[in-house]
Amino acid sequence: MEYQPTIGLEIHVELNTKSKMFCGCRNNPDAKTPNSEICPICLGHPGTLPVINKEAVRKTIKTGLALNCQIPEYSQFDRKNYFYPDLPKGYQISQFYKPLCIKGYLEIGGKKIRVREVHLEEDTGRLVHPEGADYSLVDFNRAGIPLMELVTEPDLNSAKEARKFAEELQLILRYLNVSGADMEKGEMRVEVNISLAPGSKRKAQKLGTKVEIKNLNSFRAVEKSIDYEIKRQEKILKSGKKVIQETRGWLDIRGVTVSQREKEYAHDYRYFPEPDLPILHLGTPEYLNEIRAEIPELPQQKRERFKKEYELDEKNVEVFVSNKNLGEYFEKVVSEFEPRLSKEKLLSLIKLATNYLITDLLGLLKKTSITDEDFLITPENFAEFITLIHDGKISSKIAKQILSEMFRTGADPSHIIEEKDLIQITNETDIKKIIEEVIAKNKKAAEDFKKGKENAFQFLIGQVMAQTKGKANPQIVSWLLREILTKMK
Ligand SMILES: [Zn+2]
Repeated sequence: MEYQPTIGLEIHVELNTKSKMFCGCRNNPDAKTPNSEICPICLGHPGTLPVINKEAVRKTIKTGLALNCQIPEYSQFDRKNYFYPDLPKGYQISQFYKPLCIKGYLEIGGKKIRVREVHLEEDTGRLVHPEGADYSLVDFNRAGIPLMELVTEPDLNSAKEARKFAEELQLILRYLNVSGADMEKGEMRVEVNISLAPGSKRKAQKLGTKVEIKNLNSFRAVEKSIDYEIKRQEKILKSGKKVIQETRGWLDIRGVTVSQREKEYAHDYRYFPEPDLPILHLGTPEYLNEIRAEIPELPQQKRERFKKEYELDEKNVEVFVSNKNLGEYFEKVVSEFEPRLSKEKLLSLIKLATNYLITDLLGLLKKTSITDEDFLITPENFAEFITLIHDGKISSKIAKQILSEMFRTGADPSHIIEEKDLIQITNETDIKKIIEEVIAKNKKAAEDFKKGKENAFQFLIGQVMAQTKGKANPQIVSWLLREILTKMK
């Protein structure tokens, strides 16, 4: 029998607001000292009252609008009651009955994945388990950091699709500047729910028993854990047994999921409206339009525009879209090209610039970022550099040398060329003279070539290039050398 997986995602995202969700403490994910960013409110002391962080609400709505959500006119916070040592109040302020954003979608590979809701809550503290100790420590710096939760409908059908959704969401969150969304830092945490049921390719006839997977802190883990879980559940179902509804954890080192606890239900949490916070009245057109106007061009729009405007292939477009800063730099470089050029020449410059940015510049950028202050190459200089290569003023070999010099000092390329005497030699008479000198010094190689040894030819080209310190135009060297050798007796 064939089984069809049905997958939904719950994704938690720490918002990059200045302060915490309900108090004035700094939202500082890089805090080094435990319990340094805390106050009586985020510690849940008796008598304290929370105040809603406006910016967190705004960022959540912005995300919702970017995901085609509806924003209900009224929204409210609720208490989710449970005890855990990292939860000082004994409850978490979350949203259950009236979330901020509902009924959206995100398109992945032409398929609409519905977003059930995006709501806002507060993060918990963090437990630290010192190695070998028989106690645990608690750090409340994270307690009360605004946490946005996105819940999809179970519209995903494979591990790859789930991974793509999470990756695209991360890009959108970064474009919107609502979160760093770094999975390794825990700024974005993915939970998967997955069930298997008999069914054909696209749709299961009826949903099976749902299992949740937690502790996924990389895209790789999302994909691997789903693949593993599909196989595990398939094996259980094929042997005629039943899948247990439970929460499982992903053990990355072993590549398996393990049972953590049986599934809890919403009613276990005794949700009720948070009495210390007012109901939010948001759905006014003015407020939403204001936020809508702040939404920048999103990754998918950028892909389409880059393909059309610059005629780049899909792979290069993806590099520029996923590396937002590089994409922005690329556009600045393009705007520096002479505007009156023919379309053909402009596109050929763009293609060349793309290659140098993606292969050579990204290679040099290993340790620094293009937005760092110590990145010294201006778009103007980069455009000039590309034009020099395109017009044959410098060879591709010399180009690498010039680029690393530009990277090191920020000097403009024509200055470097002049100072180091690097202009490409294209004058045939000059090249001919050098070739004759090289042949005179390497008579044996020249004779070997006459006997049909192609290696000897490559050797002689190498000698000419060395003689000119790589400045001779390689194409001219090649055909001139062949011509001279052939004519030799
Ligand atoms: Zn606080």
